[in-house]
Amino acid sequence: MTDTQKVNLLGLSPDKLIEFFESIGEKKFRATQVMKWIHQKGAESFEEMTDVSKKLRAKLEDICEIRAPEIVSQNISNDGTRKWVIRTAGGGNNCVEAVLIPDGERATLCVSSQVGCSLDCSFCSTGKQGFNRNLTAAEIIGQVWIAIKSFGPMDHNGPRRVTNVVMMGMGEPLMNFEPVVDAMTLMMHDNAYGLSKRRVTLSTSGVVPRIYDLVKRTDVSLAISLHAPNNQLRNELVPINKKYPIEELLAACQHYLDNLPDKRHITIEYTVIAGVNDQEHHAHELAKLLENLECKINLIPFNPFPNSGYEKPSNNQTRRFQKILADAGYTVTVRTTRGDDIDAACGQLVGDFLDRTRRSDKYIELKQVTDN
Ligand code: SAH
Ligand code: SF4
Repeated sequence: MTDTQKVNLLGLSPDKLIEFFESIGEKKFRATQVMKWIHQKGAESFEEMTDVSKKLRAKLEDICEIRAPEIVSQNISNDGTRKWVIRTAGGGNNCVEAVLIPDGERATLCVSSQVGCSLDCSFCSTGKQGFNRNLTAAEIIGQVWIAIKSFGPMDHNGPRRVTNVVMMGMGEPLMNFEPVVDAMTLMMHDNAYGLSKRRVTLSTSGVVPRIYDLVKRTDVSLAISLHAPNNQLRNELVPINKKYPIEELLAACQHYLDNLPDKRHITIEYTVIAGVNDQEHHAHELAKLLENLECKINLIPFNPFPNSGYEKPSNNQTRRFQKILADAGYTVTVRTTRGDDIDAACGQLVGDFLDRTRRSDKYIELKQVTDN
């Protein structure tokens, strides 16, 4: 069997791994053993799996592999922020980024789900790049695997190196549904990364039917990229709104919360763009719009990039916007900047992309998204 035909075990969800072992005539518990080796101990070869018989190791060697995506670069900022540029299968410019933002006891990893994005939000540099391709489950969970391994040998009982994951890197996770669900299942599984469902967050611009599908498959936390308090403005900023308008999106959010086994809130993300959606009347309209939804609001000052046609709001304007919402009773956080000193390096490294500058600005204060 050639390498290209080998099954990559890195991306198999717990169920699929069991299915795989059964399909090759092995017992279920082997799947658990191998899953722990890969995800908890960071094994890269079957040789390392000392509690698996030599015979089975040789068999696995023959028909499968543990293949993480290739790391093009790793940057560590003075403030501890780590950023990886990862080349996905297909080579060339098929790169995505993962960013880890430490904060005290917490470390939040921002994970990509697609190379590029097809949804073309008017203020997003990934959208401007267009859609290239979906990541596989191995390439998605591989970002977590790489981030944890970057700290040295993995020890599941040691201090946790990644405590939170947000699907807020490149791409729209709900447009790559199955691989994203498989990867998130591994993030939360006790025999893999064991993260709490409150600490794994999927961010979507509002692919409404997939929100209904999502709650049948998983119970991760949900963040919604709203960015506008009415359909007219949202149609301009987030074109998928023309297909799934705000009322349908908020109904889907309510359905999601109602079908979770525990009490949770939705995180509403609102990129604040100078002169576009940052006026006081927008804040009042937003406060009214969300009055029946259990939610917290995260304001993200627009991060400019060349030819975006938009501008960053002033701090004062953002604070005014925040205050109106806070006075209306909402918990509102505002992003601050981290990892500044590695942005330039990263911008150069992914310079092959169109309009890709200072992307990590938009990952900032991810901790607030996952503060529960
Ligand atoms: N596709 C998903 C997840 C990736 S984008 C989504 O849209 O939710 C993660 C967040 O960054 C989204 O809220 C997105 O709207 C925001 N964002 C994108 N470009 C930005 C920019 N230039 N400045 C500030 N926030 C931006
Ligand atoms: Fe895609 Fe999200 Fe960017 Fe919109 S904001 S283009 S959905 S990555």
